[in-house]
Amino acid sequence: MLDAAPLAPPDWLKLLLWAADYYQHPVGEVVAAALPAPLREGRPAIGRQARCLRLTEAGRRALAELPARAHRQHALLSALATADLQVPAGEASGFDAGVLRRALEQAWVVEADPGSPIAPMNKAPALTAAQQEALDALQAAPAGFSVSLLEGVTGSGKTELYLRLAEQALRAGRQVLILVPEIGLTPQLSARFAERFGAAVASFHSGMTEVERNDAWLAVAARRVQVLVGTRSAVFAPFADLGLVVVDEEHDTSYKQQEGFRYHARDLALLRAKDCAAMAVLGSATPALESLAHARSGRYRHVRLEQRISGRAPPPAQLIDLNVHPARHGLTEPLLAAIERHLHAGGQCLLFINRRGYAPTLLCEVCHWVAPCPRCDARMTLHRARGRLVCHHCGHEEVPPRACPSCGGQRLLPVGEGAERVEDALRNRFPGRRVERFDAERLRGGDKLERLLDEVRARKVEILVGTQMLAKGHDFPALSLVGVVNADQALFSADFRAMERLGQLLTQVAGRAGRIEQAPHPAEVLIQTREPQNPQLRLLLGSGYGALAEQLLAERAEAGLPPSGHLALLRAEAAHMTEAQVFLRAARDLALALPGAGSEVQLLGPAPAPMERRDGRYRAQLLLQAGKRAPLHRLLPGWLDQIEALPEARRLRWSLDVDPIDLF
Ligand SMILES: [Zn+2]
Ligand SMILES: [Zn+2]
Repeated sequence: MLDAAPLAPPDWLKLLLWAADYYQHPVGEVVAAALPAPLREGRPAIGRQARCLRLTEAGRRALAELPARAHRQHALLSALATADLQVPAGEASGFDAGVLRRALEQAWVVEADPGSPIAPMNKAPALTAAQQEALDALQAAPAGFSVSLLEGVTGSGKTELYLRLAEQALRAGRQVLILVPEIGLTPQLSARFAERFGAAVASFHSGMTEVERNDAWLAVAARRVQVLVGTRSAVFAPFADLGLVVVDEEHDTSYKQQEGFRYHARDLALLRAKDCAAMAVLGSATPALESLAHARSGRYRHVRLEQRISGRAPPPAQLIDLNVHPARHGLTEPLLAAIERHLHAGGQCLLFINRRGYAPTLLCEVCHWVAPCPRCDARMTLHRARGRLVCHHCGHEEVPPRACPSCGGQRLLPVGEGAERVEDALRNRFPGRRVERFDAERLRGGDKLERLLDEVRARKVEILVGTQMLAKGHDFPALSLVGVVNADQALFSADFRAMERLGQLLTQVAGRAGRIEQAPHPAEVLIQTREPQNPQLRLLLGSGYGALAEQLLAERAEAGLPPSGHLALLRAEAAHMTEAQVFLRAARDLALALPGAGSEVQLLGPAPAPMERRDGRYRAQLLLQAGKRAPLHRLLPGWLDQIEALPEARRLRWSLDVDPIDLF
């Protein structure tokens, strides 16, 4: 830790101190969370030597002869065509590791002596008129710190704008931070940056080893790396002079760390930009209500990009009423007929279902027993391919019983549907068609996801079945039909953010359809629901996410909820519910004696968490709600000191979550 300190610029430590104070988290843990493990453990701050990759004559010939669909080889070789690529040892280089290995084996690429500085620019594609207009608007921001919300529909070409802004920052000799929500998106995006800027680009995410991350971290500090593309924790990289910060898919909840040091990477990224007098850009097709509110109030510049590159409007979404059309294994006849039609016309279909496993419940037909998790107030999900019942809340697994444990009956039925079941049903209905399920568990590790995505782009996969991971950022040029198996979970949720998230999810999923190439068939989006008359669902489909967001903002203002109010959540979990409640009541009483409590800061609870028992522990919470941020943050430090002194505090687990995004 001691020798790491001089490596980090002063504003890095300032950021951490601010974050520790804002999130009321111990400084030591904040610093530990921000440092790569080798530095945290006090190992000397020496990065491994960089490798220098150079294109050979054979590589130049290969580049000219490669088929167009070998786009990853193209990306690598064309980046090297203009300049050498410097890769810190062990660093992922932004290019696919397998592609790089093969290029070395074929002697298209060799390791050379390092020495060349930043690569010159690769050729950038021409901008559409809409992109140019948006870029002009972004570049019109005053010098120094500024925040722009870039609201661009899916397929509108936001990434090219990030690249242009990055070029501008690099020309000014400054560094660039690009945050992305998912590990799965880092290789794609870093490849595009590496293709443009060569050696100056590195990535940073939890899929890399600690040593690789350490190298990237040190390379940023030493300015060997000018552009860092990474997930959440990349916000802590020790930039010497940051000129541009981009938060892509800024609405994504994975920017919020949900345990330990519970920071929000988007908010810290903006703070970082402010400290460095950098330009910040928040990009999304479906901005978070927090960001929209700031854009409306004029605090952020609002730049819109409403046209897709293809010039085609996103396809309109249609509802299928599940009350009229009964579903079998989650699929109705109108949806199946549409799949048939699109397959016949040579299109690709994506079926979105927000539930993993085969069926969410195993039910006894005789006595109505349902498989409970022994450690949670939750049912277990049947994963048939693995032959297991799995709890999605605590991870508990068991072999499904053959007979009902309650009445001994033999008729145990899977009830409801998950992605596995929909996949099975589609295989049966469309034999000979290739169906692939995108499952985070199945595709974890190595480049399995990237390989499958390549096969989708090469049109080898005809039907895609997937959960959340398919809604994010991926381009599927031949996709012509998107079917949402069930939109209803969110319509009945108690979570005040459920409708915002549903609006974002449906818009993002629908945006996968008919994106770039000429689809063989007009693209379609079909959504199955039991609530076709739900006014907010209709508003979303009729007038778009922006109209829904307006209405939700008005509701939040009325209820004093974010972004119109500010929250902090004190959570407790214990072996017995009474312990958790006694602790939270004591904490509440302490708060009530402090200035502002009960008036400017409202205390709600304590109340049991929506899922009272999870992983064998009982959970309860106390919510603090304030119309203004200042009184809440005035109250927190003194209150926490007092809570820490409570004898009860040592007997259970508790935590404070400032700006929680989930109230449980
Ligand atoms: Zn039974
Ligand atoms: Zn469980």
